[in-house]
Amino acid sequence: MIAEEMRMNPTTGQTVNFRVANFSNIDLPGDHLLNFDSEPIETIVNNIRRYADLPYVYVVGKENARQVSELLSVLKSIRSPCYPHALFSIDDADLDIDDAHLDLVKIGSTEPKTVHDRVNQYAGSRFSFDFNKLRIINSSPLPTQTDVVIVGAGITGLYAANRLMEAGISFCIFEKRDMVGGIWSRYANRSSRVNSSESAYRLFEKKNRSNRDHSDTREILEDMAQLAKTVSGHLFNETEVDKIESTGNRYLIRLNRKGRTFSLESMGVILAINDRVGTPREVKWENQSVFQGKIATGISDDTEGLDWRNKNIVIVGMGAFAVENARTALEGGANHVTVVCRRHGTVCPKVIDYLNFATPYDDAFKHDKKSNLRNMMYWKKLYELSGATQPECWMGKIKHAGHTISVSDIWFIGHYLKKIETITGEISSMTEKGVYVDGRHHINADIVINAIGFNRNAPVAKELSGYHEIYSNNYLARNFLYLADAYIDDDAFNSLFGSSVLEMVKFYIEVFIMSFNNPEYEGMITTPGIEKIPIEDRKWSHYIKSAMALIRNYPTIHDIAMKQVTQRTKNFMEAHDLETYIAENKREWIEAHSMLAGKPMTEEECLPYVFEKLLKSG
Ligand SMILES: Cc1cc2nc3c(=O)[nH]c(=O)nc-3n(C[C@H](O)[C@H](O)[C@H](O)COP(=O)(O)OP(=O)(O)OC[C@H]3O[C@@H](n4cnc5c(N)ncnc54)[C@H](O)[C@@H]3O)c2cc1C
Repeated sequence: MIAEEMRMNPTTGQTVNFRVANFSNIDLPGDHLLNFDSEPIETIVNNIRRYADLPYVYVVGKENARQVSELLSVLKSIRSPCYPHALFSIDDADLDIDDAHLDLVKIGSTEPKTVHDRVNQYAGSRFSFDFNKLRIINSSPLPTQTDVVIVGAGITGLYAANRLMEAGISFCIFEKRDMVGGIWSRYANRSSRVNSSESAYRLFEKKNRSNRDHSDTREILEDMAQLAKTVSGHLFNETEVDKIESTGNRYLIRLNRKGRTFSLESMGVILAINDRVGTPREVKWENQSVFQGKIATGISDDTEGLDWRNKNIVIVGMGAFAVENARTALEGGANHVTVVCRRHGTVCPKVIDYLNFATPYDDAFKHDKKSNLRNMMYWKKLYELSGATQPECWMGKIKHAGHTISVSDIWFIGHYLKKIETITGEISSMTEKGVYVDGRHHINADIVINAIGFNRNAPVAKELSGYHEIYSNNYLARNFLYLADAYIDDDAFNSLFGSSVLEMVKFYIEVFIMSFNNPEYEGMITTPGIEKIPIEDRKWSHYIKSAMALIRNYPTIHDIAMKQVTQRTKNFMEAHDLETYIAENKREWIEAHSMLAGKPMTEEECLPYVFEKLLKSG
């Protein structure tokens, strides 16, 4: 696509991070700039892939036009995130590239500041998310019947809707808010990132460019907007499901749309209203009003615009949002972060999550013990070298019940640089200058982040559905699935779903499609290994154990799981084989030290990057 004028979104005005790959003779100013000379394509590919952490635009001069088109075809063949979003052609560079996903912008000037300004103007609009994309308006009347009703248009509901559409099953998807996206559009921060590695949290396959590893909120929301667009004719926002009643072999769905009540009939229901992440927990500390600093929750962008520089931060809690806020504060230049927690959550470096997915599974969907043990040893070593406190349950259990595993390299680097520490205890009161922990230990703070987690939604599911019990394979009844992240107990993460709820969702949607209106349902829910449990007791280990029971007993389900895992492993290897991964991760590792320390640091001064040894051990 040729665009003489760049597309602008005048409403955002947000600063965005992106990388400019400069293939011209112009001496460009700005951060995150990579200059390329006429090196062999292979060298450029290897170099650029080490910087796959930001979205790209390329600036291309006449003399490099051919080299860039060659580069594009290599990057496209591996769907690299380094494949650019826009090409800025300078000086009439002849870029004869036909790609609807790539903006081509001609710039007449070779004056560095003009080029820089136009690139920034483009990026400001291209790399900030327009939430209106999530506000799908469907003016068609509500149908009176459909095959399947999906309740909730978060990531689960939208993924399910797209799969039902592909499978030719009719459906309606109802969302009570005025926008889709669920917790990602409601609680995620602009700086949030997926904990799971990208290939294990991928909503659909793209042709040219996959998301970056540990995709950020913009990428996830862009993908959800795309999924919502595909099913927009069946999607009804601002429509709340009040009640689901069983009428023998069908369901009656009672709805509330902008104050008016409706009902429709369906053969099946997918309740995609989440379980683990309901409403944020609230707490008020004694003397909170006297605190002179800022108190935030660290969700829904409520720290956006805060100046972290040289500030002392206290973060309460050690769940995923707490660890994310610690990263944001340190990246933003905080002087020191203290995390106050009742017990230590588990944090893993990125490479461990990568290895957990990239290591091949055997036919029983298990990793070999040797690889698991080797990875644990590296991980433990990192805790020891960095000075970060290991979870109390180590190494008997990988994490405490109820906790997730947060993925962060900066957690360890920050500890090594003495920029972050953890204290076990509870906030007993606040003072003008900070907080008291357990009534005795005072910590000075300029900013306090109250990240104590979320209430569960399981009681809501019970009320809506009228069911009090659920089969451990997520079925409430025939054709009726409660598809939601559950309480994360001890046995999670070492299964074929790894750290990803989306992988669980992908598996069970296929089971649902296969079993829809299928007489084998009775046999399926009585499969040995599947049990009936109170809805509030749903745990990850239940749906993992049940998945394995189905895989063992049904060859078709075994094939479904194998196909899913094989595609995922292929995607992991395409995105980065171990060598590419280590090269990129190590580069980021050293840069993160310099960023946190506020001065350049050599490799020798950094927390040792122990994972390089993986290349030798294989
Ligand atoms: C920053 C961030 C990072 C994450 N990282 C990871 C990760 O690394 N790995 C991982 O596995 N998971 C991760 N998750 C969480 C995980 O993906 C969640 O389980 C998932 O986002 C929840 O999606 P959902 O669609 O199931 O529920 P939700 O997002 O909660 O969506 C449910 C929707 O249902 C709607 N709804 C509720 N009740 C009704 C009703 N009665 N009628 C109509 N609509 C209703 C709600 O309004 C909501 O839009 C992350 C989440 C965030 C925000």
